[in-house]
Amino acid sequence: MSTHGSTLDVPELTQRLLAQAYGLGFDAAGIASLGEPATVSAFEAWRAAGMHGSMAWLDGTGATLRGDTRRPHPGATHAIVVAASYGGRAPSGPVARYARGDDYHVVLRERVRELHHWLERTLGRPVNARPYVDSGPLLERDLAQRAGLGWFGKNTMLITPKAGAFLFLASLLVELDLEPSAPFEADRCGRCTRCLDACPTGALVEPRVLDARRCISYLTIEHRDAIPEPLRASFGGLIYGCDICNDVCPWNERFTREPSLPSLAPRMGFPASDDVAEIRAFARTLCVMSAAEYADTFRGSAIKRAKLWMLQRNACIALGNVGTAADLPVLEALCTHEHPLVREHAKWACERVGAMDRQ
Ligand code: SF4
Ligand code: SF4
Repeated sequence: MSTHGSTLDVPELTQRLLAQAYGLGFDAAGIASLGEPATVSAFEAWRAAGMHGSMAWLDGTGATLRGDTRRPHPGATHAIVVAASYGGRAPSGPVARYARGDDYHVVLRERVRELHHWLERTLGRPVNARPYVDSGPLLERDLAQRAGLGWFGKNTMLITPKAGAFLFLASLLVELDLEPSAPFEADRCGRCTRCLDACPTGALVEPRVLDARRCISYLTIEHRDAIPEPLRASFGGLIYGCDICNDVCPWNERFTREPSLPSLAPRMGFPASDDVAEIRAFARTLCVMSAAEYADTFRGSAIKRAKLWMLQRNACIALGNVGTAADLPVLEALCTHEHPLVREHAKWACERVGAMDRQ
């Protein structure tokens, strides 16, 4: 059967579409039919337990829309799901790998739109479609598993057998007949528990269950309040995000790839290093950064998900953990910062550094 307005039948179109996705630089691609996600009950139980912390967009309408992938975009029947690597072999450093390049929302949306334009050119007619890049009410990892890209690791990441888990996921929801890919049914974690063992805050409370309220990624990026004091020492030198449960994963050790799209490659200025002196220098730079410098330095970067005061709060924790007496002047200056949470974290850090110095 040919697709509307084109001589290609559905399997041919699907095959060419997936080839086009790889041609655009994506590391994995597949097709899923839309419907109720297999993991919706697990998502609801997680939410009901409050493990999503203060991410209020996951409640209310957001939760209803996530309950069925046919809801977010009227008329859509299938999802073209793609993944792009942000991995690489450089040390993790104080800023999570995903945030070191240009803002992935923008980069991937542009590529997914190219896929949409290719479809319209190929079919010779408009196609009702909408791109989603970690920005809409979709359980994207569920959709990716359904599209055959990979499985849910015990660290809650979507792991692909050929490119590991340092991947951005994006979907184009389309109103179009396509041939669904075979879902990825296998669980290739086996008896491994490396991610659960390595998590410094115990946020992976059981395999595939992440308590965001204990997760360094959530706390440094999404949480707009004080960081719980008992957890602060576990942050080490991390300032924005955390890659630990991904770094230890054997699938990443073996298969991670350098960023597939050039603009996802790390920008200058983000330390891709675990060297303590570099982490301290970066933290001090954040501590003294003005609003204008913040806007200029991080223009077009995903790191702006955290406001400047949040980065300064996080930098205080990093200096409290890995700083020395040489960092005290910068921390002391923040003790009079206009934001009360920066003041409180700076005082905490001063006490820690002072105590360490006295030992
Ligand atoms: S991102 Fe870090 S804190 Fe969060 S679950 Fe993974 S290892 Fe734990
Ligand atoms: S570290 Fe092991 S258990 Fe965790 S996601 Fe990777 S393979 Fe699975």
